[in-house]
Amino acid sequence: MVGNFVSALERRGEEIAHAIVREQGKPLAEARGELAKACGEARAMVAFACLPQGDVVPAARAGFRNLVLRRPRGVIAAITPWNFPIMTPMRKVAPALVYGNAVILKPSEFTPAAACIAADCARDLLPAGLLQLVIGGADVGAALVSHRRVDGVTFTGSVGTGQQIYHLASTNLAELSLELGGKNAAVIHDTADLGATLDAVTGAAFACAGQRCTAISRVLVRRELYGPVLDGLASRAAQLKVDDGMQPGASLGPMVHGQHRDKVAAMVALGLSEGARLVCGGHALQPRGAESGYFYAPTVLADVKANMRVAREEIFGPVITVQPYDDFSDALAVVNDVDYGLTAALFSGDNAVIQRFLDECETGMIHINHGSVPDNHMPFGGIKHSGVGAYSVGASAVNFYTTEHSAYLRYA
Ligand code: NAD
Repeated sequence: MVGNFVSALERRGEEIAHAIVREQGKPLAEARGELAKACGEARAMVAFACLPQGDVVPAARAGFRNLVLRRPRGVIAAITPWNFPIMTPMRKVAPALVYGNAVILKPSEFTPAAACIAADCARDLLPAGLLQLVIGGADVGAALVSHRRVDGVTFTGSVGTGQQIYHLASTNLAELSLELGGKNAAVIHDTADLGATLDAVTGAAFACAGQRCTAISRVLVRRELYGPVLDGLASRAAQLKVDDGMQPGASLGPMVHGQHRDKVAAMVALGLSEGARLVCGGHALQPRGAESGYFYAPTVLADVKANMRVAREEIFGPVITVQPYDDFSDALAVVNDVDYGLTAALFSGDNAVIQRFLDECETGMIHINHGSVPDNHMPFGGIKHSGVGAYSVGASAVNFYTTEHSAYLRYA
């Protein structure tokens, strides 16, 4: 059933990708990649749902058989943001369906078109009512998550909204899975191939114009590499083509809306007033033929200190801050000294350094020697203020989308 639904999405893939470019703004190639990832994750969930669930546990009493069973949780409310208009909705709809739930999806009011096409694909494939779509903003979302008939709330979005939803869902004691923001660091400690490292960091920082929860937004560099890293990041940022997402060769589209572009610009201005040094970017752009779009130049800020707000708060735009460190322990302390804990990347060939990062880095996802793109079948989520509850997709999703039942069978 869900496999057929995914195939239907793939058949309408170009329509979905074009809708994403029109509403969200990312380049067409990225929109196609987003759809492919959405379908890949959904197919992985189909496979996970075929794995054994539950357990047979030895009984403490003679004449008993003990079973741990799982059932669908019930009605799932899914609330999604604007940056991945098909991947995030499918990251909730697919696990909900494969584990036997009904799901009511409320996509972002800024990017509902892709979810509407997905719901249309499901119309003839799923039993009536199993997937429902509601369109609206915060008021609609709030009504949905606080409804007494909702058994589970899965939300992706900002920390502030996540806190409100935590509160709203508590009136009904609904189970929660919150995927929130990030302030993701890349630590460049030592690297045999600085060019490849900087390519990876640039990709992880500026894809989707930095509007990814897993975007790299802080770069911590061992002091010996500080100059070459700044030069390399600046030259790479300058080569990125900022344009209408439908234009061939566009590597960055616009910000999702004007208010968000202004927020990004304000954060850069704040960073400069705090003492950061502008290496490149730092201004809005008006590409020829797309003058009315909310474009912002890829921006690199140097000499950033760990206590500055640009180094601690999510910017969610094409901006990276760069700061040097002398000792790996200092770098690790800076990585961990933020409220967020979503993802982090380390570039190093030193085994002891890598092992320490795996043990001590306070993020839900950890990448060694590459950027921050996750696999389709791995648990996805964060700790600290970046997430609450079971991770979405991967093996962990079963914990949110099903309930657990301990059964005691007396047979003698
Ligand atoms: P947002 O929190 O403003 O809105 C997200 C969704 O919540 C929208 O559908 C919105 O209508 C709805 N909403 C708003 N107020 C609500 C309320 N009181 N009750 C119920 N629903 C409500 O987020 P955004 O601006 O759309 O997205 C950007 C944020 O999302 C960033 O902070 C980013 O880091 C985060 N994000 C996190 C992940 C992740 O997996 N961790 C992924 C993508 C985006």
